[in-house]
Amino acid sequence: MHNSIEGTDRVDEVIHNENFRCGYVAILGKPNVGKSTLLNALLDQKISIVTPKPQTTRHKILGISNGDDYQVLFLDTPGLLHPKYKLHEKMMDAARSSLDDADVVFVMLDCTEFSPENLERDVVFEFVKSVAKPKFCVFNKIDAVDKQQILFWIALLSEKYSFQEFIPISALQKIGTADLLKTTISYLPHQHPFFPTDEISDQNERFFVSEIIREKVFELCREEIPYSVAVNITEFIEGNGRDIIRAEIVVEKQSQKGIVIGKGGTMLKEIGSRARKDVNEFLGRKMHLELFVKVRDQWRKSESFLKEYGYS
Ligand code: GDP
Ligand code: MG
Repeated sequence: MHNSIEGTDRVDEVIHNENFRCGYVAILGKPNVGKSTLLNALLDQKISIVTPKPQTTRHKILGISNGDDYQVLFLDTPGLLHPKYKLHEKMMDAARSSLDDADVVFVMLDCTEFSPENLERDVVFEFVKSVAKPKFCVFNKIDAVDKQQILFWIALLSEKYSFQEFIPISALQKIGTADLLKTTISYLPHQHPFFPTDEISDQNERFFVSEIIREKVFELCREEIPYSVAVNITEFIEGNGRDIIRAEIVVEKQSQKGIVIGKGGTMLKEIGSRARKDVNEFLGRKMHLELFVKVRDQWRKSESFLKEYGYS
C-alpha cells in the first residue's frame, strides 16, 4: 500500500545515509486502550480500524512511518486477552509473534481504567515480563484524567517496573505522540529501511477495504454480531470502465444473516453506504461496492475458514 504523498526516488538517497535508523515497534495492550488510534495518529492516516468496542483489531497490522532518516515499522496487535475460541488463539498468536520482530515494545495502558492494585495480575504485564527488549510504558487517554494523578501513577510504576521510558499521551488528541515517535527512533538500530520509503503498510488495498466494511458492522450492529462477522472480498476488478468490489459479510448463523440484512434490507444498505464513502476516500478513487451476506456455520472455530478469511 503506497502513500500517494511521497515520491519513489528517495530510496537511493536513503541507502547512502549512515545515520538512518530502522526497526520494529510492537504495540501491546489490553483491548480498547487505544492501540489502533495511536497507530493512526503516528502515521497521520487511518489504517487501523477503531471502534468503541473491544477486540476490533484481529490481525497484526503493520504501519510504516517514514522520515528523512528513519523508518519505523509499527505493529498494531489484537488486544491481549484469555482466548475463548480459535479466532482468539490466532489473535494472541499475532500479538506474540509481533514480539519476535520488535526492537522496541510499547506496553499501552488506559489512564481511565488504571488501578495500580491490579497490575500484578495484569495479563499484559505478565506477557511482557520476560521480554528482554527496550520497553516503553505508554500511558494513553491523558486528556480524560487529572494530570497530578498521572504523575503519581508514573512515579509508582517506575518504582516497581523496569521500563526504559514512561510516556504519557493522548492518541486521540495527538498529545505527546510526536515526542513518543522521536524517543522511539532514538532506540532503533542504525540500518537501512526494510520497506520502500513511500509505503505505509505491507497490506494490500483488498485488506483495507475488508477492514473498513468490518468497521461499519462494528459501528452499526449490536451484541455478538460484530464478533461473529468476517469480511471476504470476492472480487476487486478495475479497468475497462468496470471498477467494482464485491464482498461477502460472513456470519455464523441464519438468524445473524437476518439482522445484518435488516428489515427490508435497511441495515445492509446503511453498512454499504458508510463503507462506500470511506473506501472511496481511502483509495482516492471511486469504486462500485456490492455487499452480500453469507452464512458459514461456526467459521470462527474452523481452521479452513479462518485461513480462507485471512486469519492465519
Ligand atoms: P484498541 O482496541 O487498543 O485498538 O483501541 P482503539 O484504538 O480501537 O480505541 C478504543 C476506544 O478508545 C475508541 O473509542 C477510541 O476513540 C478511544 N480512545 C483512543 N485513544 C484515546 C485517547 O487518547 N483519549 C480518549 N479519551 N479516548 C481514546
Ligand atoms: Mg485495535
